[in-house]
Amino acid sequence: MAVHATGNQQHAVPNLVTKLLSWFSTHARDLPWRRTRDPYAIWISESMLQQTQVKTVIPYWERWMRELPTIRAAAQASPGKLHKLWEGLGYYTRVRNVQKAAQQIIAQHEGRFPENFDDILALPGVGRYTAGAIASIAFHQPRPILDGNVVRVLTRIFGITTDPREKKTNAQLWRITEELVHYASRITSTLRSPPSAELLRRTGATEDGHHASSCSRLNQSLMELGALICTPRSPRCELCPVNHLCVARHRGWQAELPKIGRRETATARRFIAFVVERRGRFLVRQRPAGVVNAHLWEFPNVEIGARHSGPQRVVTADSAGFHFTEVKPFTIIKHSITRYRITLAAHRAELANSRSKPGGHWLSRSQLARRAFSSAHKKILAQFEPERRSPTRSASKLRPVTSRIGDRRS
Ligand code: SF4
Repeated sequence: MAVHATGNQQHAVPNLVTKLLSWFSTHARDLPWRRTRDPYAIWISESMLQQTQVKTVIPYWERWMRELPTIRAAAQASPGKLHKLWEGLGYYTRVRNVQKAAQQIIAQHEGRFPENFDDILALPGVGRYTAGAIASIAFHQPRPILDGNVVRVLTRIFGITTDPREKKTNAQLWRITEELVHYASRITSTLRSPPSAELLRRTGATEDGHHASSCSRLNQSLMELGALICTPRSPRCELCPVNHLCVARHRGWQAELPKIGRRETATARRFIAFVVERRGRFLVRQRPAGVVNAHLWEFPNVEIGARHSGPQRVVTADSAGFHFTEVKPFTIIKHSITRYRITLAAHRAELANSRSKPGGHWLSRSQLARRAFSSAHKKILAQFEPERRSPTRSASKLRPVTSRIGDRRS
C-alpha cells in the first residue's frame, strides 16, 4: 500500500474538524488541568504527561500545584523538594528543566509566563509539541500539536503508510495538524450545536471565549481521540466520530498504522542491591549529577551480567566500593524503563568495612520517607514490614514486584 494524504486532505479537513469538535463537546474527560487556563498549570501538566499516563499524573499534578502554586515557587524550590514531588514519574530531566525554565521566566519575563510562541519554545525542556499545547490551550492560538497519540490518529485517518519518524512524513503530519487547527480557528461559528455550560467548565473556556477556544478544543480532541478511541491496539472504530472519513478503517489497516519501523529489542539488565540496617538506620547514597536518575537516592547496588541468575550469585561489593557480608535474599523488583527490562535483587546484608566511606548516609525510616528514591529502590522501601519498621521478609515470601515507566499517555 502507498497512500498519501495530500490528495483528499483538503476535502477531509472541514469535515474532520467539525466532527472532532462536536465529539469533544460531549466526550471530553473532566481533567483537573482542563479547569484552568493558567499557562503555568497547563505547562506542568504537559511536562508530566510526556511518556506518562493521565491517571498516573493526576495526583502528582494536584500535589505539585498545592506545594508550588506559582512560577516563582517552582523557580525557588530546593532540588530535594522538586525531586520528591516528581518521585515515581521517571525521566527526571523533565523536572530539572521545569525549574530552569521557571528561573528563565523570572529572569526574562518578569515572572509572567510568555505568550509569544517563540518565547515559549525557547524555554528549557519545551519542544514544538509542548509549546503548541500551551499556546493553543492557555492562549487560544492556532498552533498545531503532534505527539504519539496524534500521529496514530492522523496516519490512520489519512492512510499514511510511510514511517512518521522520517523527516518527510513528519513534516507532512505537522502540515495536516496545522491545517486542522487553522481551520478550527475559523469555523467554530458555523457549528450547529453550541457548547454546553458543562463543556465550557470542563475545558476551561468561557462563553465569550468559546470561539477563540476552538483551537484549544481541536487540539485536545485529537489527543482525546487517540487516548480513548483510536488506541494503539484494538481501536474502537465503531464509536469513532470520524470513522466514515478514515482510510485505515475502510481498508482494514488499523493494525498496520502507524508504520513505525522495528522497535529496539528489549535489553535485560540485572542489579543487586544491599539493604544494610544499623540501629534503625539504613545505608543509602545519592546519585551524582550528570548520570541517569541524578540526585535521586538509592540503596548501595551494583550491576551484574544479565546472564547471571541473580540472587544465587554471590556478590559482596557495590559499585561505590562498599563491601558486605551476611548477604541474604530480601526481595526481587522487576522494572521496565524504556527498552530496559531490569531485575533488581535486593539483599539484606552487613557492612564489612564498617568505617564509613564517602558517599554513604545512614538514615532513619522517617528520613528515608522524605528523600526522593528512584522507582525501583522505592519499591524496596515499600517491602519493609511496617509493624517492625525493618526489612525482615523471609526469602520464602519473596515475590517479584513489577512496574513500568515509559508508557504512552492515555
Ligand atoms: S475509525 Fe478507527 S482507526 Fe480510524 S481514526 Fe477512528 S478509531 Fe482510529
